[in-house]
Amino acid sequence: KSSQTPTPDSSFTGFVQVRGAREHNLKNIDVEIPRDALVVFTGVSGSGKSSLAFGTLYAEAQRRYLESVSPYARRLFHQMAVPEVDAIEGLPPAVALQQQRGTPTTRSSVGSVTTLSNLLRMLYSRAGDYPAGQPIVYAEGFSPNTPEGACPQCHGLGRIYEVTEQTMVPDPSLTIRERAIAAWPQAWGGQNQRDILVTLGYNVDVPWRELPQEQRDWILFTEEQPVVPVYPGYTPEETQRALKRKEPPNYMGTFTGVKRHVLHTFANTQSPLMKKRALQYMLSTECPTCQGKRLRPESLAVTFAGLDIADMSGLPLKRVAQLLKPYAEGNATGRKKQDAAHPEQAIVAQRIAQDLCARLSVLLELGLGYLQLERSTPTLSPGELQRLRLATQLYSNLFGVVYVLDEPSAGLHPSDTEALLKALHSLKQAGNSLFVVEHNLDVIRQADWLVDVGPAAGEQGGEILYSGPPAGLAEVAASQTRRFLFATGEGVEAPPPRTPTGWLRLAGVRRNNLDNLTVEFPLGVFTTVTGVSGSGKSSLVSQVLVELVAECLGQTVEAEEEEADPLERAAPPETGGKIVSGMEHIKRLVRVDQRPIGRTPRSNMATYTGLFDHVRKLFAATPAARKRRYDAGRFSFNVAKGRCENCQGEGFVMVELLFLPSVYAPCPVCHGARYNAKTLEITYRDKNIAEVLGLTVDAAWKFFEEEPTIQRALTVLREVGLGYLRLGQPATELSGGEAQRIKLATELQRAQRGNSLYVLDEPTTGLHPSDVEKLLVQLDGLVEAGNTVIVVEHDMRVVAASDWVLDIGPGAGDEGGQVVAAGPPAEVARHQQSRTGPYLARFME
Ligand code: ADP
Ligand code: ADP
Ligand code: ZN
Ligand code: ZN
Repeated sequence: KSSQTPTPDSSFTGFVQVRGAREHNLKNIDVEIPRDALVVFTGVSGSGKSSLAFGTLYAEAQRRYLESVSPYARRLFHQMAVPEVDAIEGLPPAVALQQQRGTPTTRSSVGSVTTLSNLLRMLYSRAGDYPAGQPIVYAEGFSPNTPEGACPQCHGLGRIYEVTEQTMVPDPSLTIRERAIAAWPQAWGGQNQRDILVTLGYNVDVPWRELPQEQRDWILFTEEQPVVPVYPGYTPEETQRALKRKEPPNYMGTFTGVKRHVLHTFANTQSPLMKKRALQYMLSTECPTCQGKRLRPESLAVTFAGLDIADMSGLPLKRVAQLLKPYAEGNATGRKKQDAAHPEQAIVAQRIAQDLCARLSVLLELGLGYLQLERSTPTLSPGELQRLRLATQLYSNLFGVVYVLDEPSAGLHPSDTEALLKALHSLKQAGNSLFVVEHNLDVIRQADWLVDVGPAAGEQGGEILYSGPPAGLAEVAASQTRRFLFATGEGVEAPPPRTPTGWLRLAGVRRNNLDNLTVEFPLGVFTTVTGVSGSGKSSLVSQVLVELVAECLGQTVEAEEEEADPLERAAPPETGGKIVSGMEHIKRLVRVDQRPIGRTPRSNMATYTGLFDHVRKLFAATPAARKRRYDAGRFSFNVAKGRCENCQGEGFVMVELLFLPSVYAPCPVCHGARYNAKTLEITYRDKNIAEVLGLTVDAAWKFFEEEPTIQRALTVLREVGLGYLRLGQPATELSGGEAQRIKLATELQRAQRGNSLYVLDEPTTGLHPSDVEKLLVQLDGLVEAGNTVIVVEHDMRVVAASDWVLDIGPGAGDEGGQVVAAGPPAEVARHQQSRTGPYLARFME
């Protein structure tokens, strides 16, 4: 066991004591962590910080909490596995503010997450201006999600959905048998409806457009649901004869009009996929009754400060705070007479306005003033959502709680980070503990206590290198963090910026807060795009630039959120812009993001990079395999012939436990090997295929010494710092940073063709400064090979090392969206108006 904790310092009130932690790569560690302090967990990516902070400390707090509630309530919570740890003492209840990447979020808004909408509804209900004679509307009446509030025409959706002949039958030259009615269910359901139409005497073998209009209308729009005998497999003639003979039918079938089917599916299905399918056959238009405001007319008639609640919810929070301020201070003009007539209402208005203003000010301080209450959470970045939750905690007045946070500085400009640190300090002041996993040196410097995990990643990590006040880390030679934390002078040594080989010019760019922007990106160099959070960097780079370039190249852009509620996507964002020149230099577009490389344990690094294809061929080429006629497919755990049938190649099985969350256990037949015994008999250089998948990249690199193709792929993986990962590590167990580096490595091992455009959105998220150095080397390599790299970035170390900086701003939301400065880093560092300039200057020589 390793234990490096110094004697507890008297300045800390109490400690959380962890003994024998073994979650993931943790090496049976003991550690003591102070309460009521800002504790930062540091270490290279993959060293085990999250496994300690989230996988062990938070998971244990959660488990204890769940044990104290009823089994019924327990099932409602996100189920977490029991952590691998001997004992934890002194652990207060914990709240996790974790970044959710790619996980589908339920339908909620900024207003509901922060509970500000509830307060605003109360304000409108109790203190709004009502038209003469209109009775009071209760608070629920201001929510479109309640029967009391929803607009009666659109049921609170804000849009009405129409189903037309054109949408249901897109190609009228087809016959019904040829699936003219696209909106019918696929497979059996559609055949059933067709057979019913045959019984009813409709001709299903002439083109749709040749059917008489009244027949078409009946099929599509009838509300009748006749029940008739069905003879599947009979021709229309045979069916008519069978009907005449009164032959007993196969079954009785119920006909449903196509429109009725579509609307019913849309309204009732639980499956987002089915909903999306139904939506395809519907035209949506803004609801004429509520003009898209989703509320019933009586509710919209109530105003406050001259606005109805929907308009208020559409304003930036900053503006809402300004509007409410006079009411909170009791000096709003225009309310004097009314207040004199209803003094009790005046008091209520002031109270609620004060409360709202206090809460809003926290959000404004965290730099979120550009958001609106109505903004739906799936459209927020993970960092924005985390800060919203943080703000909500700040005014919830809890104390004695541990907040566990995951890289709260992600997505934050250095100036936003200062506000974040203030917020963390107020949570601490209120009597809470903060456990923060962080790479940002500005945050690490503010810690009361550091827990440095390492020395390297994966199996070479998982030990506590240091646990104590920050200054003491200076003595720990094995720490990578130390090198950056105590570096003298922050200047980054960068070669002089490269000269662009051309320019990609965009004009008329419109999206979110970008309004008719003209912008140019240099080609053949490494560009960083900077600006405060919400200034429009992602809208410009990850959205418009990527979409326009992809369109020119005829490439398709994968949807951001495949599983998002289709209703959220019903109204596409307003967009505009064109590429004026420069496309002749770009042959290919590559996005390297942090989304998972796969959603199931069936994909892993070896399959994703294509490495596994070569390995399987090697196994198939061994004499033993050839004798048994095993081909390369035999060595895939996704193919029936070679895999373990008991677990279908998963390696583990799910065990349902009464009253407890179900757990995964290793498959009792293959013991986690994923293959059947016959397949495992084949070996290559004394290892079977399962053992090869169990090798780390480093070990495999030695093992495949004689295989240049495989070794080349492994070399790149080592270069991006993933030597510690196992070839077969499931995609679901990889962090966002790991996924991103696998994607990058996959790109790098391709033959270098040049003329590709690489777009990355905050690639340093989750990366330790030492990993950032490795990433920079790779990006540099791409540029050297004749490519263009454009990166949205907050890490000034990276910005200082780039060739060109495009600074967007000056502020967030409608105060941003402009190009503030553009030029080599040294130039932008000196720029007077740029908010990035001063922070960048610190990193210039
Ligand atoms: P850090 O937070 O320091 O980046 P993690 O705690 O996420 O590191 O990961 C530590 C090690 O544990 C890494 O090798 C990682 O691949 C592995 N790991 C992470 N999550 C899982 C998991 N769910 N199952 C198995 N191994 C995991
Ligand atoms: P950055 O990447 O610089 O943080 P974004 O491009 O994400 O900024 O956002 C710029 C502005 O556009 C912000 O005001 C943000 O709230 C708004 N915005 C971003 N995405 C959406 C969206 N999907 N729907 C509505 N507004 C959005
Ligand atoms: Zn409506
Ligand atoms: Zn098995």
